[in-house]
Amino acid sequence: MNHNFCQSCGMPLNATSLYGSEQNGVKNEEYCIYCYCYENGQFKQPFFLLLFF
Ligand SMILES: [Zn+2]
Repeated sequence: MNHNFCQSCGMPLNATSLYGSEQNGVKNEEYCIYCYCYENGQFKQPFFLLLFF
């Protein structure tokens, strides 16, 4: 077993699609896409902004 785990929520990152990605497209293997909050440098779900309006 050589699974990485999200350093934030502990989610097992057993698939590269679960890794967050930096703006330059490099996968970040420390955090999952949910905790990293964005993919390819762009926020996927900026819903938290809408909560303030
Ligand atoms: Zn996470």
